[in-house]
Amino acid sequence: MLTFRMIKSLTQCLRGYRSSGLRVGFVPTMGFLHAGHRALIDESVARCDITVVSIFVNPTQFGPNEDLDRYPRALEADHELCRKAGVSMIFMPDAGEIYPPGFQTHVEPGPVAEPLCGAVRPGHFRGVATVVTKLFAIVQPDVAFFGQKDFQQCAVIRQMVRDLNLPVEIVTVPTVREPDGLALSSRNSYLDPADRVRARCLSQGLLAAQVAYGEGEQDSQRLLAIARSLMNEVDQLQYLELRDARTLEAVQGLVEQPAALCVAATIGPTRLIDNVLLIPPPTALSDRELELVSHVMGRQATAGAQGSPPL
Ligand code: AMP
Repeated sequence: MLTFRMIKSLTQCLRGYRSSGLRVGFVPTMGFLHAGHRALIDESVARCDITVVSIFVNPTQFGPNEDLDRYPRALEADHELCRKAGVSMIFMPDAGEIYPPGFQTHVEPGPVAEPLCGAVRPGHFRGVATVVTKLFAIVQPDVAFFGQKDFQQCAVIRQMVRDLNLPVEIVTVPTVREPDGLALSSRNSYLDPADRVRARCLSQGLLAAQVAYGEGEQDSQRLLAIARSLMNEVDQLQYLELRDARTLEAVQGLVEQPAALCVAATIGPTRLIDNVLLIPPPTALSDRELELVSHVMGRQATAGAQGSPPL
């Protein structure tokens, strides 16, 4: 496994591999790697000849009062996880390598970046879209892997890849959860033991709504109420919304198209996000909609409720 800090040396090395026809997979991360990141890496290693993992805590996607300065780091453990997983290259530039003096061009996503986290974190997706575009230009991967955990991020990136004709396939990997349902996140390390217990209520609410949907409840207001009723242990519920899984437009009335139930909440000083997909049963979907489901869910092109982990 090779580690690069400079763009030039990484691209030189990758050029050699690409000219021999090897398929390059790319997993962008901010480090402090866990089993969620590992699932993305495993998917890339399985599908590609070369897997590049970037570890870069991107300053432009953090707001002024967010956790950029205290974002957790564990470079040695990250290297170990990557090495064991069969990663070929780690790219870990510093901020000056990505944003040198005089940097002035950004990628501005459209309406898909406006609701949910876009509304709570102004400028966040502009920072994400900009850094992902730059990383795509540097690595030039055939395939890039993103987690469903950051559902709106996946939607923003898919839209950006379509709009800008970026020559990369995007694969979405299902969310990896703790045994009690909590979605793995580097930010879970901020949770003290009491907050960790409270954090369970997010996935419990989402998964309860998903189960109700699987049992035939289609009314969006009732589904939201089911989820909300289990989330009263959070300090601030920033949003709990049902959105069209592709466009992220708000879902009103019945859930008849693939939808995402998305939540963001603070628990103590920690902000957590999570989501589940509500997918109509296969008989209710046209071929076009089934194609959409497979597009939204990456390789997990199945219908019916997504497998629920134990609560
Ligand atoms: P981050 O390091 O938090 O920026 O995440 C890097 C990538 O890992 C993103 O595509 C995330 O969506 C993905 N990821 C983070 N947590 C999980 C999880 N629990 N399950 C699956 N993917 C995840």
